[in-house]
Amino acid sequence: MDVAKMETAIRTFLEGVDERFAGDDLEGTPARVARAWSEDLLGGYRLDPLAELTWSPVEPGGGPIVVRDLRFVSMCVHHLLPFFGVAHAAYLPGIRQAGLSKIGRIVDAHARRLQTQERLTAAIVATLDTVLSPRGALALLRAEHTCMTCRGVRKVDSRMITLASSGAWSDDASARREILSLIAEHAGDPASEG
Ligand code: ZN
Repeated sequence: MDVAKMETAIRTFLEGVDERFAGDDLEGTPARVARAWSEDLLGGYRLDPLAELTWSPVEPGGGPIVVRDLRFVSMCVHHLLPFFGVAHAAYLPGIRQAGLSKIGRIVDAHARRLQTQERLTAAIVATLDTVLSPRGALALLRAEHTCMTCRGVRKVDSRMITLASSGAWSDDASARREILSLIAEHAGDPASEG
């Protein structure tokens, strides 16, 4: 990532805005914005999701493993505005089981990039598939897009839900319904959570 180039671009952007900012209000802004984006908002580019997902061997035939309510923030590739919400991920283990905290790490590593919600959802499932070779994998994301709630149609309460699945949960609709109801359990419908 070329942070100097990002800083120059923010300076140009602010010149384009042509607001008469008083004194030194804007002095540190280009550097501050470039740092926030490179180190934090787009920090996922420095992480390798495949390497983040470590695992240990397990006996085959185990039941589904669900990790619910992983909060994430991502950046919309179309508007450079944040979208944020919760991710639920599940997999049906083959002979590899991920550490519990690792699923959250791969969500984060994929989220902190320029993304669409659909691509982010698919990337989580693809990483689970590649590293764990599970019998099935699934991700359900629910997010508020500030490019929809703060601009354009300004639908302040709208949420977007995306689903991606593989293996048994892609091939078999009743198995998918079962895992989705397991994800929804204890908290009602995940599509209606705050
Ligand atoms: Zn957008």
